[in-house]
Amino acid sequence: MSVYKYEQPSKWIDWIADRWRQMRRNLGVGGFSMAVAIATHTLFPLLRWMQQRQIGRGKTIWLDDMPGPSPTQTFEHLPFVPANLTPNPGIVRKKARHMKVDYPTTTYPFAYREPPISGNTINGLGEVAPRRADHVFFGDSYRRAWGKLDWYFQVMEPTAIHRIIVRMFWQDRRRVGPVATRVATPANPTDAAEYIKEFAQQSGAALVGITHLTEDLCYRDFSPCFKYAIAIAIPMNRDEMLYTPSDRSNREIMLTYLDVNRVAIEVAEHIRSLGYPAQASTNLAPDSSVEVLHVPVAIKAGLGQLGKHGSMITAEHGANVRLATVLTDLPLAIDQPRDIGVDDFCANCRICETNCPPHAIFPTKQMVRGVERWYVNFDKCAPYFAETRGCGICIEVCPWSEPERGLKIMKTLIERRNVTA
Ligand code: SF4
Ligand code: SF4
Repeated sequence: MSVYKYEQPSKWIDWIADRWRQMRRNLGVGGFSMAVAIATHTLFPLLRWMQQRQIGRGKTIWLDDMPGPSPTQTFEHLPFVPANLTPNPGIVRKKARHMKVDYPTTTYPFAYREPPISGNTINGLGEVAPRRADHVFFGDSYRRAWGKLDWYFQVMEPTAIHRIIVRMFWQDRRRVGPVATRVATPANPTDAAEYIKEFAQQSGAALVGITHLTEDLCYRDFSPCFKYAIAIAIPMNRDEMLYTPSDRSNREIMLTYLDVNRVAIEVAEHIRSLGYPAQASTNLAPDSSVEVLHVPVAIKAGLGQLGKHGSMITAEHGANVRLATVLTDLPLAIDQPRDIGVDDFCANCRICETNCPPHAIFPTKQMVRGVERWYVNFDKCAPYFAETRGCGICIEVCPWSEPERGLKIMKTLIERRNVTA
């Protein structure tokens, strides 16, 4: 299906400048990917061996002393509240029967001599005034406040995971690129949105939604220079994910990230071929993972709603999905947020709360940067997440994540609401 009429070739000088920029970028990304590939087989195994030897001797790994980049990020606009990594005592810890592995202990081999600023303070827990979010952890610079824990997490990942990360970095060279010289005029934004969604689905997206890109959807350091955001979701293999937290489920998480990043990149490339600027905001690459908040983008684009466990719940795949975003100026009809009944369900369900080993999930909504919402205690979740190399317990125990159950739950909740209305 083509909904476009091509016209107005843009200036050749722009085309040459774009190609030059792309070549320089490819050299940079290629060099970076190569460096990480070499480190994957040299530096990382060596650092991992050193840490494991220390753990084997029963010694504490002081994160502050770990060889590697040191944090330099400052938060002068925030009060310094030191992080407390000790798990919450909570209620009796319970493991869902369908989960395939016992949950690892919450006794960690690492500690901070001088804890960084609390991740909850960075996230704005308790703040009543709206402000943009700061990136805290995962897939970014190790020079951020929580960089040492992130570094430990990355160092301890097995080589097989590092190889997937290298593939992600290499793939990312195509996330931005030159825009075609010919410009396609869409018949109208509605047809254009349908066309792009169909293209994304043919590339492998399970769910696609579109929204306006507003400042609140971007991290503080990223200026929203595009008009639209296209949210893309791909489900993870549920059978593999029932083994979370383990190397097996972590591999599945990383492979799904690789896949969802690929789809976003292909959509962005396709839009550029139509003559409109577009870039894929992917996961894990140091530059792209600090652009937009994928979960709020996807919620605003109608893919699902925020669950008590802090992840987005979709009716089709529950929380068992990974997300990426495409930013563009191509005129597109936007989708509306969807109420599928998650709030009603979470108010009476405690499954994620009771299964979370460090009891990091708040039982009630919290005020976060001016919005009352479900929230996960960062200081409790992050150490467990790092130690298990990607805990996903809360999203797999969630009833919405059981195959075909989400749509049934949604239907029941909406019917119940209609009866009581
Ligand atoms: S990922 Fe979920 S279950 Fe795991 S520690 Fe964090 S909140 Fe708890
Ligand atoms: S497990 Fe229950 S409380 Fe937690 S997010 Fe899912 S539905 Fe909500």
